Amino acid sequence: RAKQQGRNTFEWYTHDISERLNQRVSLRRELQEAIDAEKLELHYQPLVCAQTLEVISLEALLRWNHPDKGYISPADFIPLAEETGQIIPLSNWVIKQACLDSLDLEKQLHKLYPIAVNISPLQFRRSSFLDHLFASLEEFQRPTQALELELTEGILMDNPDTAIRLLKLLRLAGVKVAIDDFGTGFSSLSYLKRLPISKIKIDRSFVREVTHSSADAAIIQGVISMAHHMQLQVVAEGIEKPEQQAFLQQSGCDLLQGFLFARPMSKPALLEFLQTAKAVEKNFLEP
Ligand code: C2E
Ligand code: MG
Ligand code: MG
Ligand code: MG
Repeated sequence: RAKQQGRNTFEWYTHDISERLNQRVSLRRELQEAIDAEKLELHYQPLVCAQTLEVISLEALLRWNHPDKGYISPADFIPLAEETGQIIPLSNWVIKQACLDSLDLEKQLHKLYPIAVNISPLQFRRSSFLDHLFASLEEFQRPTQALELELTEGILMDNPDTAIRLLKLLRLAGVKVAIDDFGTGFSSLSYLKRLPISKIKIDRSFVREVTHSSADAAIIQGVISMAHHMQLQVVAEGIEKPEQQAFLQQSGCDLLQGFLFARPMSKPALLEFLQTAKAVEKNFLEP
């Protein structure tokens, strides 16, 4: 009986593996079709000034509008795309689309909102990365401040010397770089000191409990103070509650991002959001 059960478990297990493999193979094919047919979309989430709540910049977040599954989060397909190499055409598409959207937003709003793009490790390691970035900016007549890059600690720690060389070139060109999900990697502070970056984005996991956990509160205050001593701006991600907003404002955080202010939006929804925000600002300034 035990043997029988064991076999069933084994069969069930192999069935499960082949099922998952099939799913991955079809996901991979569907992703390729989506890339070819441009079925991917960039959505945008505003970053607001912590003091005035005015929109300062935007983060581009990739969305796959899947025919049966609806919107799929990049967290669910970026790892697969990294494995298959599809991340490269995907990332190139993201940069071009962000440039195109930046141009369109500026035309319609008469204001430049810098767009931060998330960069994958494979993309950053390619020798053609900077060339492609600058070529895209030029193709769409975008100034270098139009795009910002978000890199994780892991990407920078992988090969510090190469990372520093690229960061220096980006700084010279005027492209700002932020460290994303800060606090979840293990970058040493002495290494951080050598990085020519502009911003630190404190990971959402520290913000979540900040009003209940004195450890998280201390970490956030420590990071803000350290970052300010290094002339870096600090962004807090994942603000969902007014208490979190209040804590971060009191702690001197520079920029806030989260569902409390705005969710990631399609470009038409974003345009409407920014036009309304502008009208409110104008009424406020010129009553
Ligand atoms: P991330 O760069 O840390 O992006 C922030 C994530 O938090 C986004 O998830 C965003 O929708 C979500 N978020 C924002 N505010 C809140 C909030 O108040 N509460 C909660 N619970 N979540 C919030 P999303 O869009 O699913 O993206 C997940 C990750 O996928 C991103 O994390 C980023 O690492 C990656 N990603 C997104 N777009 C791209 C891309 O174009 N290229 C690459 N390589 N990676 C991307
Ligand atoms: Mg990001
Ligand atoms: Mg993040
Ligand atoms: Mg994150």
